[in-house]
Parts: sequence; structure tokens; C-alpha cells
Amino acid sequence: MNKYDTHFLMTVEDVKIYAKEKLKFFDLNEDIEAIEIGDGNINYVFKVYSKKRNHSIVIKQADKAIRSSGRALDINRNKIEAEILKIEKELSPNYIPKIYYYDENMYALSMEDISEYKNLRKELFLGKTFKDFANHITNFLVDTLLPTTDLVLNNFKKKENVKKFINIELCDISEDLVLTEPYYNYKNRNIITEENLKFVEETLYNNKKLKCEVSKLRDRFMNCSQALIHGDLHSGSIFINENGMKVIDPEFAFYGPIGYDVGNVIGNLFFAYANKFYTDQNNLSFLQWIEQTIISIVDMFLGKFSKKYDDIVKLSLYKGEFKQYYIKQILSDSFGYAGTEIIRRVVGDAKVLEVIDIQDLDTKIKLEKTLIRFGISLIMNREKFDCGEDIVKQFKILL
Ligand code: ADP
Ligand code: MG
Repeated sequence: MNKYDTHFLMTVEDVKIYAKEKLKFFDLNEDIEAIEIGDGNINYVFKVYSKKRNHSIVIKQADKAIRSSGRALDINRNKIEAEILKIEKELSPNYIPKIYYYDENMYALSMEDISEYKNLRKELFLGKTFKDFANHITNFLVDTLLPTTDLVLNNFKKKENVKKFINIELCDISEDLVLTEPYYNYKNRNIITEENLKFVEETLYNNKKLKCEVSKLRDRFMNCSQALIHGDLHSGSIFINENGMKVIDPEFAFYGPIGYDVGNVIGNLFFAYANKFYTDQNNLSFLQWIEQTIISIVDMFLGKFSKKYDDIVKLSLYKGEFKQYYIKQILSDSFGYAGTEIIRRVVGDAKVLEVIDIQDLDTKIKLEKTLIRFGISLIMNREKFDCGEDIVKQFKILL
């Protein structure tokens, strides 16, 4: 039996040997180093590199249990991630790291080291701006989403894909943490700033109209197998520098509503916006950039999606008025899921840096209330908003 025939969780020492023996990425006698660079909650990520030459690889390995909590989680998620990365790489080559090898036995994905790109959430938190971000992310969204729908893909192939990418346990996490618990705290996992507890009870837990709208979004998340979506496209899955952008970590991918990905991108940018507004109000260059970037993302997405639709949707029935209906639905989903993302990050247990890292309590209370009010507004008015400007205007009213 071969050493790597059955899964074991690698240490940094194991991973060095693995990169040589199994991947043959380095010479056997080469002087190499390995470090664990994972900062997510779920998996283990190693960087293995040569000390002498500019040569490195990243190996992401899954275990049967979640890294942070130890709770069991379907290890097959790692295979889904590898397969999605390959599909996304074909559809949007500039924005996905190269995949070198996927090891089905070790549940280890070996890929290009993209360390020259930095975590978008952290960069924005530091006040950095990226003039081409709206362009890059809308390219990625349009490249990867429309071509995987059955408006474009053969209907047999699409259904095979729906089956292949049924991602039960990861979807369950989103269905609970994003689309249930912030409104119905039945597992008692929400973490709420004490001073905002009453506000959360009134505006979320006891808000019947809101709960009905969230239920509609939850229902669409579970039943609308529209496109192969990334499923966790928050700003910590996006890596960026002045020259480009890379998207990683699609282990939550499945066939779901297009607006879920678009909404995640939009929603997460409002954390950066709110954080800077409340902690660095004179930083006008950042505030203007983030405002314009959000507006551009919505509007460029609509423009590019519409153009690609004309280019690649062939069935005559789908031409004409149906297109407007289809895009309008994606837009309202996007605003709705931006709202659910914003709310879950404030009241749920998977917090974001921009909310946690506020030292002054009064500021934090205010920021959280604004974000919750805005999330509610996005959900309730998702069919009324038509463009990027509409949502930014609404946000500014609530600030
Ligand atoms: P998890 O599934 O645990 O959330 P991620 O895929 O988000 O893991 O990876 C965790 C971290 O590892 C990322 O935030 C990033 O810093 C680093 N990382 C992941 N993939 C790469 C890569 N290809 N190149 C460089 N760093 C990477
Ligand atoms: Mg991650």
C-alpha cells in the first residue's frame, strides 16, 4: 500500500515530503520550507517553498472535522472545491489560481501560490483602494455564472452538474447561519452586542414581514438551481493587488441563485464602507472610492451580463422580454442576499473584521444598528431598487 493511499492530516513536515515525493514539485534533495498559512475556520492551507529559488506551491487539505470547532463536515467538500476551481479556471482564466493537482485520497488540492495578491477584506480595512476592482469582479461574476445556466448549457449536462454539485452539508451551513438563525435563534448561536439585544429582538426576531421575505430568499436559495455559484464570495475569498485579482475557496459551491454570489460581493463591501465612515470619517478618498465601486459593481454587472446574454444565449424564446424579467430577478435576489449577508455577519457567530474591530462601544452600537437597518431595507425593497446608486443612496440615509 502506498503512503498516500488513505487520508491523514498532514503536518508541515509531512507536507514538505508530500510536495517532493508525491507532487514531484521539488527535487528530492532540495532545501525547502513549509508553513501553515490557513486563516479560515475550516481547512488547513500550507505553503511549501524553496529557500534558494523562486518556487512555491500551496496545498489546501481538508480533514473530516472543521478546524475551528472540531465538528464533523463532509470531507468531499474538498473535491467539490477542486472541481469548481477547474471549471471556473476555464470560464474565467485570469481570476483563478492554477490548479496543479487534486489528490482524491489525501483530500489535498495543490495550486499556484497567489501570495502576491492580498486578502481584499484586510486591504480595505487598511484603507487601500483598487481602481480596477469593480471591473475585475464583474468580469469574474459574468464569466462564471451565465455560462453555467441552462440558458446556455445543454439541459442534460446542466442537470448532471446539478447532481454532481449537490453540496448538502455546506448548503446546510448557509441555510442555517445565513438564512435562519439571524431571524430565529433556535440554536442559540447568535452573538449580539448586549446593548443591541432589544433592537435585534424588535427588528429581526419579532419582525413578521421581514421573516416572510427572508423565507422567500431561503426558499430560492434551496430551490432555484440557476447557475453554478461560488457560494461564499465574501471579501476574504477575493485576493487583490494593483495588477489583478484572484478568487479562491469555492467549497460552498452548488447550483443556486446567481444573486447569491453578486449579493455577497455587494454586501461585504458595505462593511468596509460602514467601518471607515464610523472610524475614519475624514478619509474622503476611501469613502468616495468605496461608494463609487459599489455603484459600478451593480451597474457594470448589469451591463456585462446583458451583453454576454445577447452573445451566448441562443434559444429564441429567451430573447426579447424574458431577458428583462430574468435580469430583474437576479438583481432583486442580489440585493436581498446582500441584505441577509450583512445581517448575518452582525448578529451571527461568523463575524467580520470591520465589525469586530471597533474599540469604541458607542460607535460599535451605532454601526451595527445602521448595518441591520440597511440589511432589512435591502431585503424589503429588493424589487424596488434598480441600480447601484439606489442602494448607496439608501445606505447614506441610514448612516
Ligand atoms: P478555508 O477553506 O479554511 O476558509 P481558504 O481557502 O479561505 O481556507 O484559505 C485560507 C487562507 O489561506 C487564505 O485566506 C489565504 O491567506 C491562504 N491561501 C489559500 N489559498 C492560497 C493560495 N493559492 N495562495 C496563497 N495563499 C492561499
Ligand atoms: Mg475561507
